This record gives sequence, structure tokens and C-alpha cells, in this order.
Amino acid sequence: MENPFDNNTLPDGGSKEEIVGWLRARGEERAWLFAQAARIKREHVGNSVYLRGLVEYSNRCAKNCYYCGIRRSNPRVRRYTMTDAEVIEAARYACRAGYASLVIQGGELSSTRRAREITRLLEKIGAATGNSLGITLSLGEQPRETLRAWKEAGARRYLLRVETSNPALYAKIHPNDARHDFQKRLDTLRHLRELGYQVGTGCMIGLPFQTLDDLAGDLLFFKEIDADMVGMGPYVEHEETPLYRHRELLLPPATRLDLALKMIAILRVLMPDINIVATTAMQALDKIGREKALKAGANIIMPNITPVKYRADYLLYENKPCIDEEAEQCKECLDMRVRLAGDEIRYGEWGDSRHFARRTVEKTGDEHAGNDQKHLILHALNT
Ligand code: SAH
Ligand code: SF4
Repeated sequence: MENPFDNNTLPDGGSKEEIVGWLRARGEERAWLFAQAARIKREHVGNSVYLRGLVEYSNRCAKNCYYCGIRRSNPRVRRYTMTDAEVIEAARYACRAGYASLVIQGGELSSTRRAREITRLLEKIGAATGNSLGITLSLGEQPRETLRAWKEAGARRYLLRVETSNPALYAKIHPNDARHDFQKRLDTLRHLRELGYQVGTGCMIGLPFQTLDDLAGDLLFFKEIDADMVGMGPYVEHEETPLYRHRELLLPPATRLDLALKMIAILRVLMPDINIVATTAMQALDKIGREKALKAGANIIMPNITPVKYRADYLLYENKPCIDEEAEQCKECLDMRVRLAGDEIRYGEWGDSRHFARRTVEKTGDEHAGNDQKHLILHALNT
């Protein structure tokens, strides 16, 4: 078979129809796709896996996304926000464990009070860890000024999934009001870019009403906005959400996972040097789903380092793995799992998006700007 990926692009430049064809691939064709994705991963980002300790900061949320277990109108959720001391403890753990990066994720609250809390928290984390952690925020849509303040206080990356790039599907999985405005999400992604963040986005895969055409559109969207990192994972139903009643429309878990793996493989071909996350939702559908994602082209894992007492209260979806394991246990199990997938964890390195580095160099001509920082955690001993 002629190699259709010779130039790391799909044969006719990656049209929507062509991507849909690859999303349907089976047998030999499917194997070919995964082999090419693995090769391109090795050549462009190596067989290295970077870790980001995930802190599920708060499940308080002003939004009501139809798919999400912690949506505002779910009365069964016991609401919490971690204290600064708890977050700092988790940050110190990330340093000690050589994770080198932290993701602070939570529900979307855009009050000025919350904005100030996060700014202060970022400053405290920086002081407690000697600014040795690469910090990602994932706190939903926020005013531009808030995003600017957070960047100045030490955040380098921001994860805001577009969820779906099809506005009509977006409208089906969110309430139809100003708080859930597709255009606002796009504007926020643009602001993040303008403010100099490494921009992460992504989508859910296998949503009710979603077509292969939609998914191909998502991949093209990531390329169009020139994302630095992408986190996408299967949609996993949650009983206490409105979307649950459409569960009969869902693909079986194994098919959904396979579709997610193909999305990763195609994305690695389309965008060879970006960071791609092997998401936890993969693991919810398959015990070794994350390892499969690494093989398909992903290079980032976000081990959960939230204090155990909060984990059961941050259920975005059902069957969430590792909700009763202390971070230390997760670390050892992870190391082994990554090796089994044929990769190696790069402890103590930030693992910034190479794509971001290249983009920054192209723009500024400064070879050191945005470099992949080989940031060894010397502070670990002192923190
Ligand atoms: N509130 C922020 C970040 C926390 S939610 C935000 O929404 O951006 C993080 C991600 O969890 C969301 O972007 C969504 O893609 C994912 N998520 C929520 N519910 C899910 C579900 N039922 N299945 C799979 N992923 C889900
Ligand atoms: Fe809130 Fe994010 Fe869940 Fe939507 S997906 S309800 S914004 S936590």
C-alpha cells in the first residue's frame, strides 16, 4: 500500500471527507493509521510522556451543561472548594513526585472574588515551589482581564475544550442562554491566544446526535485555531444529567473508545508536534484506555492528585477511575503502565508544547522563547 502519510498530511490535504474515511477505517487500514501515528509521534515528540498533576479545585459551577455531573442544577452534588493550603500541599507533592506541571481544574465561576482567589493562589503556589511548576488552568470561560491577571500571576497554559465545533450540536448539549454561548467560547479561546497562553482545547467523542462529520470538523477546528495541546475523550454518560435520557443513541463503550483512539491517531498525523492528552475518560471506558491512547499518539497524562476526600464529589461522568486511591499509589501504577505502552515518563520536565515553542520562535525570532524547558525540580528537596 502506498504510504498516504508521507508528508505527515492526509493524502488530499486532510479534507473533511477524507478524515471521515479514516474515522471509519477498519482492519488493515486502521492498523496502518495507528502505525503512522506512532511513527509521527516518535519522530516529532519522541516516546516521552509528560505528567501534569490534576487538582480538581472546586466543583462549584455556574453552568448547566447537559452532559456534566457537577452542573449547577444537580442537587445531589456535595459542593466543595479546596483550601489554599490543600492546593499548595498538592503542588508540593507534584514537585516531590517529579510531575513538574500542575493543572488546576474546576467549575466555571466568573465572579471577581473567584478571580482574585485564583490570582492569590497562583502567587502562593509560585512562592511555595520556587516557580518550578508549569501551571495550566482549566476554569472555563473568563473575562479577558481575569485571564490576563492569572497569566501574570504564573499560569502558562489554559485548557478550554470547545466541546464540539458544530454550533448546532453545541446548542443541543447546552442550555440555550447567554451563559452557554458558543461564540463566547470561541472568543475566549482567541483571548487566550492573544494573551500568550499555550492554548489547549478539545472535544467529547461519541456524544448523542454527534456524527463522524462533526468529529472530522473538530479535528479541522483544532488545526484551524492552531492549538498547542488537545485533550479529547469519549463522552461518558452520567445518570443525574439531562443528556442521560438519550443514552440509547450512544455507541457501545468499546466502539466509542475506538473512535476516540482514531481521533487521537488522526490528530497526531495532522498536527505532529502538539501535546495530546491521554484522558481519564478513556480509562473510564477501558482499564487500559489511557495506555491505548499513548500508543495511538498521545503524550500527556494527568494523574489525579486531588485529596481523596473530594474525589467522589468531582464526578463529571460515571465510572471515574482512581477515586479512592492516594496519589502515591497512582504514581507507581502509572510508571509501570506507561512502560508497558512502550513510552517513558520524563520526570522533572515541563514538557511544554513543541508546537508552541515553534510558533513563538516563528513569531518573535527568539530561539529561547517558549523553549521546552528542561526544568529539573531542584526545589523538591526544599519544599
Ligand atoms: N468547567 C470547565 C472545566 C471543568 S469540566 C470547563 O467546562 O471548561 C472539564 C471537561 O470535562 C469539559 O470540558 C468536558 O469536556 C468534560 N466532561 C464533562 N462532562 C463529561 C462527560 N459526561 N463525559 C466526558 N467528558 C465530560
Ligand atoms: Fe461546569 Fe465545566 Fe461541568 Fe459545564 S463541563 S457544568 S462548565 S464543570
